[in-house]
Amino acid sequence: MKYKLDPCPHCESNVIDILDLSGLDEDFWYAKCGRCGATGAYEQSEKEAAENWNSRPIEKRLRAENAELGVERDKLKRRVAELEVLQGFAKKMASNMTDMPPEITKILNSNFMDLIDES
Ligand SMILES: [Zn+2]
Repeated sequence: MKYKLDPCPHCESNVIDILDLSGLDEDFWYAKCGRCGATGAYEQSEKEAAENWNSRPIEKRLRAENAELGVERDKLKRRVAELEVLQGFAKKMASNMTDMPPEITKILNSNFMDLIDES
């Protein structure tokens, strides 16, 4: 094969052909998946058909976004685990306090009771 072609975006097959539909007046080339039949745009040359097949800006952008979201998800999972540790500690503290100063009770009631009551 003359050009290195990316796998099919629909079925991930590596069997991609560049087909020549050129007529008498104009050249038409396009890439076609040998498995699912997905095609690239018609182009004026074999090289352009290959470049068209390999240029998938939306797919590349989505893959990059997906990778970023995976990193963000992992950070959030770690943060949730930290907060669960703090929640357990806060529950233990709350159950051990018998004469909590009113100003502390007020702060806890307005900020953390939803965490402490949760479970
Ligand atoms: Zn395919």
